Amino acid sequence: MVSVYQQKGLDLYPVVESTIKDILKTTAIFKDFFEINPNLYNPLRQQYNAMSIIDQMAKIQEEKSNKRFMLVDVDIYVQGINHVFGLADPVRQTAIVSTHRLEGDKFPERLAKETVHELAHLYGLQHCSIPECVMFFSHTMLNTDHKQSTFCPNCRSKYG
Ligand SMILES: [Zn+2]
Ligand SMILES: [Zn+2]
Repeated sequence: MVSVYQQKGLDLYPVVESTIKDILKTTAIFKDFFEINPNLYNPLRQQYNAMSIIDQMAKIQEEKSNKRFMLVDVDIYVQGINHVFGLADPVRQTAIVSTHRLEGDKFPERLAKETVHELAHLYGLQHCSIPECVMFFSHTMLNTDHKQSTFCPNCRSKYG
């Protein structure tokens, strides 16, 4: 089961819920809206540190069996990378996806792909070298638009 949290102002749970049900074959449950701690904003980069948001959210008590998934609309980065579409911390079973750079006609499918990708990391899957596989790492939106929202046969067998 995946607990879903959304940044205040976002209302995308139905897309996330159907993605999780259809592709990951598990249940999503909407838990709460949250406000990102304003101290996590990096004014030099005009972005938020994705790992710091995960730190903030990982403090929320969850049943051990639950995976935590957060949706934000701010631009996020990790140290050493200009920006990321999302980030996952398998140890704390917490993943984040940002809608910030997913805007456009293809928004719902882009959100689905990034949601599946980050959550699959929580199930132990790693990056895949097949550009069509959802576990291919997206450096750019072209990568995201090229890949499918589903696993290649090899990743599918690892997901179970
Ligand atoms: Zn990844
Ligand atoms: Zn794959």
